[in-house]
Amino acid sequence: MEQKKDIQLIKKGFITVIAGPCAVESEDQLNAIANGVKEAGLNFLRGGAYKPRTSPYSFQGLEKKGLELLKKVSQEYGLKVVSEVTDAATVEEVAEYVDVLQIGTRNMSNFALLKKVGRVANLKNLSVILKRGWASTIKEWLLAVEYITQQGDCEVVLCERGIRTFETYTRFTLDLSAVPVIKKMSNLPIIVDPSHAVGQSDLVIPMSRAAIAVGADGLIVETHHNPEKALCDGQQSLNSRQLKDMLGQVSVFAKFFNKMVR
Ligand code: PEP
Ligand code: MN
Repeated sequence: MEQKKDIQLIKKGFITVIAGPCAVESEDQLNAIANGVKEAGLNFLRGGAYKPRTSPYSFQGLEKKGLELLKKVSQEYGLKVVSEVTDAATVEEVAEYVDVLQIGTRNMSNFALLKKVGRVANLKNLSVILKRGWASTIKEWLLAVEYITQQGDCEVVLCERGIRTFETYTRFTLDLSAVPVIKKMSNLPIIVDPSHAVGQSDLVIPMSRAAIAVGADGLIVETHHNPEKALCDGQQSLNSRQLKDMLGQVSVFAKFFNKMVR
């Protein structure tokens, strides 16, 4: 008998904030970060185990060991786990350890992966986050959702994470208009990843406020207990004090929609 989980990432009346490191580095690192995420009152811990890095010379993630640490630490803190799946061949493996399967920007059009994720998420009652491809239109993104949902019912949450434009000051350009457009074109929930969009920690808080103001259902942000020492994306990671500050500011905007941050 398949063991089914009952995860609901997006709940009516709430703004869901997912926080955690770009990559799982060690048990100590994950413990320190999970502690900050729990103290901030959040319920979902993100962490990459299979990392799709632009350079093959960058840290590639702890893979299975990273998944084991995610499961162990999240259970200790009573948090749910979000982690990326990068390959159709490892979907079942990742699904053993996580509550939410994340499909990254580089794989939005990896249709074999989307179909496999759809099948496994349906079977195991997992949620799916589908990030927007950085060079994909909103129509292409919505069609990608159907590759997942054609395999059966599961919660699919879109994630706007920035697109490529001619601007290079920020890592990508956060297309916040995608949020109301998605709301107009579909019934799908949508969250925003300001961290990968702007690529600089000081810009993450203002863009988080803006994302909630335009109607996003939640955020996924990178946090680290010691960003200067992070093996991956430290420059865009909030420390635990900045995370709390961000949540306080975001709550003000959530109130406009009669929502609470969780
Ligand atoms: C991530 O969230 O760890 C990640 C790699 O993001 P993206 O796919 O948006 O680049
Ligand atoms: Mn990252």
